[in-house]
Amino acid sequence: MLHQTNQQQTDIAQQRKQLIEEVLKAYPDKSREKRDQQLNVYEQGKSDCGVKSNVKSIPGTMTARGCSYAGAKGVVWGPIKDMVHISHGPVGCGYWSWSGRRNYYIGTTGIDSFGTMDFTSDFQERDIVFGGDKKLTKIIKEIEELFPLNRGITVQSECPIGLIGDDIEAVAKKSSKEINKPIIPVRCEGFRGVSQSLGHHIANDTVRDWLFPYAERAKKQGKLISYQPGPYDVAIIGDYNIGGDTWSSRILLEEIGLRVIAQWSGDGTLNEMMLTPQVKLNLIHCYRSMNYITRHMEEAYGVPWLEYNFFGPTAIANSLQQIAARFDSKIQENAQKVIAKYEPIMDAVIAKYRSRLENKTVALMVGGLRPRHVIPAFNDLGMKLVATGYEFAHHDDYKRTTNYVENGTIIYDDVTSYEFEELIKALKPDLVASGVKEKYVFQKMGLPFRQMHSWDYSGPYHGYDGFAIFARDMDMALNNPSWRLIPTPWKQANKD
Ligand code: SF4
Repeated sequence: MLHQTNQQQTDIAQQRKQLIEEVLKAYPDKSREKRDQQLNVYEQGKSDCGVKSNVKSIPGTMTARGCSYAGAKGVVWGPIKDMVHISHGPVGCGYWSWSGRRNYYIGTTGIDSFGTMDFTSDFQERDIVFGGDKKLTKIIKEIEELFPLNRGITVQSECPIGLIGDDIEAVAKKSSKEINKPIIPVRCEGFRGVSQSLGHHIANDTVRDWLFPYAERAKKQGKLISYQPGPYDVAIIGDYNIGGDTWSSRILLEEIGLRVIAQWSGDGTLNEMMLTPQVKLNLIHCYRSMNYITRHMEEAYGVPWLEYNFFGPTAIANSLQQIAARFDSKIQENAQKVIAKYEPIMDAVIAKYRSRLENKTVALMVGGLRPRHVIPAFNDLGMKLVATGYEFAHHDDYKRTTNYVENGTIIYDDVTSYEFEELIKALKPDLVASGVKEKYVFQKMGLPFRQMHSWDYSGPYHGYDGFAIFARDMDMALNNPSWRLIPTPWKQANKD
């Protein structure tokens, strides 16, 4: 029986390799060679997924990727709610990223918080010709006058800034002294790097090079907010509070007795960021986007870090135990109590939905974390993964992915829209979970789809509370009666 299962698995892996070969045939030779290195079938026991990653997209192949600006402004800095983030350059980038990402916050928008607003220098031809530094200086003054409760400003460079030789660092330094607040220049022009990923790195580096030195100076001058460090202080790093995810994570950490000092960066504030070097442990959810700053905090301030996963009860319980193990017996006992408290609640969720979702297959394609991180939540519901891939992951993400996927899973890096459609047509998963650009394509194919970036305007999905919503949403999409109405009755009758 076991032999048969192994044989079946080998057959599936073989078939899927052939499928990839078939799909790649459509490309010209050069592109096919390149894409061949980014598609693979995972084989049990291998230490990585065997795909090349973090390399340039092939022109004209309809990549799903975004740019460095999206990674820096859209992901890392944008959610810091009490700072004003200037989209510096022409109007488009700020407009299209305006409130598109559901990084929730509490605040009075326009007064003390600015998360869902679009501040832009709206470059005109004269700014390209003569440079935009004077305009930027003027804008900073205007912001200070019109939005006096802002705690600081970031300047998020769009493509032209680096191309025309503007010196936003000089403007930031000078204006920061004038308004007596941090101004962070971010060199995240979209031409840098190959995807959102370099934008994350650049944004992390600006925290290291501009914000932390500012915080240290403020501390010396006695201007940093007064704070009594405690033994259970932690920071949540790399949780953007999509649909309230950080909140539904934070309550669990607090329930086991930890004190959450900072949220990076969903519902985050400037002061929280400045206080973070004083915490006892950095808890990192999104490794891809924020490992750089956690590594820096370890080197410069001796703050250790730990990766965790709050998707689905199995991963949550493991993570709570691992986190608690970094603290004393009080926290460890609390963690066990919290796990035990939520167990019957989670069992009830599973009892309700598992029978409706068991053995259904899912294909994923998201950004830099979720293509592996949400797999345990699907598994808790009895669902099986057939394919997964990232837009902008690196080799270390694909290594981590091996802990989540089974033999025969198709892995695609920076999948093109053609490949994704062809693979999905052949694999026929019961659910596709990806982004808004993919959603309507697959729905038109009659395939249930859930957005795995925006949670399809639902969520949270993190934490125990989030899992109940996750299970409900997957069931709602998958077992929706509308899918049965796609074949028209007359065509169906002809078929029969
Ligand atoms: S690539 Fe350039 S123009 Fe396009 S969104 Fe990014 S920064 Fe803006």
